[in-house]
Amino acid sequence: MEIAFGPVPSRRLGRSLGINNIPPKHCSYSCVYCQAGPTDAQEIAPRAFYPPETIFREVSQRLEAVRARGEKVDYLTFVPDGEPALDVRLAAAIDALRPLGLPIAVISNASLIWRAEVRDALGRADWVSVKVDSVSETTWRRINRPHPDLKLPGILDGIRSFARSFAGTLASETMLLAGINDSPAELTNLGRFLRDAGIARAYLAIPHRPPAVAGVHGPDEAAITCAHQIFHDLGLEVELLTAYEGDAFAFSGDLRRDILAITAVHPLRESALRALADKAGGDMTLIQVLLADGDLKAVDYAGETFYVRRPTGPDA
Ligand code: SF4
Repeated sequence: MEIAFGPVPSRRLGRSLGINNIPPKHCSYSCVYCQAGPTDAQEIAPRAFYPPETIFREVSQRLEAVRARGEKVDYLTFVPDGEPALDVRLAAAIDALRPLGLPIAVISNASLIWRAEVRDALGRADWVSVKVDSVSETTWRRINRPHPDLKLPGILDGIRSFARSFAGTLASETMLLAGINDSPAELTNLGRFLRDAGIARAYLAIPHRPPAVAGVHGPDEAAITCAHQIFHDLGLEVELLTAYEGDAFAFSGDLRRDILAITAVHPLRESALRALADKAGGDMTLIQVLLADGDLKAVDYAGETFYVRRPTGPDA
């Protein structure tokens, strides 16, 4: 498994070099909309995965390779196929990356933020996103399908506490799901929590990629606009993440490596895959080989074809 991938175009962070610090798919949640499929290993006790020095080596080598090709990198972002704070050495990994001189982001589901050591690790980053899909116990369980030992009130308290002490930028991300968390009452309660917690910017997203559970999808444009208005009226800085992030994936010189690294965490639309292949001379033969070998899988979703990496086991 590739620890460093991209840079990929991020709607919030510009060109983000991704760090996959957790093997697929260890997570405390098993969200119905997860693009990485169902959670194989649901766990909540932070433990060791990759050594910080390995993460540093992989990230610095990747950075060097993409910069040699003139690619720009704006952020180093922990965004694995799972929860980044499950890595007990996340703080050490962030510290190890500091000499690279780039801002560091962590995209977390916030489920472990009730732990002081997790707040300490996240607090070392420059930009942190916490996932809050609902503040209602029933809806939280329905969407995020949490580990049975997790408790929503403790998570919400942890977010409040983290927001009070964090010196960087704290964003939230909410996945809007039709008929599940898009009612005005749900969104008003959620928006009040985010505002009172002191979230700098609340992002509203919809599933853009094939979800773990068939039939889950985002609301229509009218409901998305309504959600935005509710948050806005509560005084939140709110942005929609409902636009496709573009096809500007980086090409490091090794097309096979790039495709497998990106699709491990980020299913690619056909247009994005073609754009990447064009940078390597436009030959699509390699994609056919990856499909025939079972390394890639084509998935139809919302009228488009996506290419995703075939799962190869929980610790692959
Ligand atoms: S969406 Fe994120 S938090 Fe939810 S199951 Fe997938 S990896 Fe875990």
